[in-house]
Amino acid sequence: MESKFGTLYIVATPIGNLDDITLRALKILKEVDVIAAEDTRHTLKLLNHFEISKPLISYHRHNEEVKKDILIEKLKKGENIALVSDAGTPGICDPGEQIVKKAIEENVKIIPIPGACASIQALIGSGLDTNEFLFLGFLPLNKKNRKIKLEEIQKSTKTIIIYEAPHKIKETLIDLEKILESRKVVIARELTKIHEEFIRKDIHNILENVDNLKGEMIIVIEGCKEERENIFEKMTIEEHYRYYEKQQLEKKEIIKKIAKDRNVPKNDIYKLFIKK
Ligand code: SAM
Repeated sequence: MESKFGTLYIVATPIGNLDDITLRALKILKEVDVIAAEDTRHTLKLLNHFEISKPLISYHRHNEEVKKDILIEKLKKGENIALVSDAGTPGICDPGEQIVKKAIEENVKIIPIPGACASIQALIGSGLDTNEFLFLGFLPLNKKNRKIKLEEIQKSTKTIIIYEAPHKIKETLIDLEKILESRKVVIARELTKIHEEFIRKDIHNILENVDNLKGEMIIVIEGCKEERENIFEKMTIEEHYRYYEKQQLEKKEIIKKIAKDRNVPKNDIYKLFIKK
C-alpha cells in the first residue's frame, strides 16, 4: 500500500554563488508544504531571490532534538518538507543527521537533492589525490580529542579535508605545522565567490601569510606517502626521537610512541634515553 506520509527532501543550497542552485532544488522548494531552515532569515534571502514564498520553520543545532519530532509529526500527516542549511549540503557539519535518522526509524521517505558541498569543491580543485579521502569536518577544540584527530591526520595516507572557521584558521595551521613535515597543503578560500582562491603551498609558507587571509576556508592536506611504520624503519632511533621532539611531546610520551612504532618494549627505549 502507498504510504500516506510526506517526503523529507534534504536540499543542498549554494555556498556563495546563487547560480549554483539546481533546477531540481528550486522545483522542490516551490512544491513542498514547509521549509525547515537552519537560519530562517538567511534562507528567506535565498527564497526572495528566486521569488519563492513558503512557510519556514527554524531547525538548528540547538533546537534539533525538539524540532525533529515536530517535523516528523508533520511528515506523518502527509506534509512534504524540505530541509536546508545556511549553505551547502545539510548534514555535512550542518543540522540534518538527526532528522534523517528519525525519519528512517518512522518509515518516512527521504530524498536527498544534490548540489554544492564545500568539501567536495575544495577537494576537486585542490590538485591532490581525489581517489580516496578522509573528511574530518571541524577539528575538536577539546585538547585530548584534538590530539587524537591530529594523529589521525599525521598517519593518513589519504587526502584529508578539514573545515575551519576564519578566526581559528591560524591556530589550526600552527597545530598542523607540527605534524605535517613537507606534505602539501591547500587552502580553498571563498569557493564559488568573487575572491575564490586556491593557495597551494607548503604549510610554512601558508602560515607566513595567514594573517592576510579573509573569508571562508577549507584546509586540504596531502596524505602521507608511506605507511608510518616504513618511515620509522628508515630512521635511526635518534632521528625517531627528534621527530617527536619537534612536536613538543614530553620525553615519557616520546618513549612510549617510539616503542609502539617499533614494536619493542618501552623499557628498551627508556634505557637508551635515560641519560639524555
Ligand atoms: N554543509 C556545508 C557544506 O558541506 O557545504 C558546510 C557547513 S560548515 C558549518 C561551514 C564551513 O564550510 C566553513 O567554516 C568553511 O570551512 C566551509 N565553507 C563553506 N562555504 C565555503 C566557501 N564558500 N568557501 C570555502 N569554505 C567554505
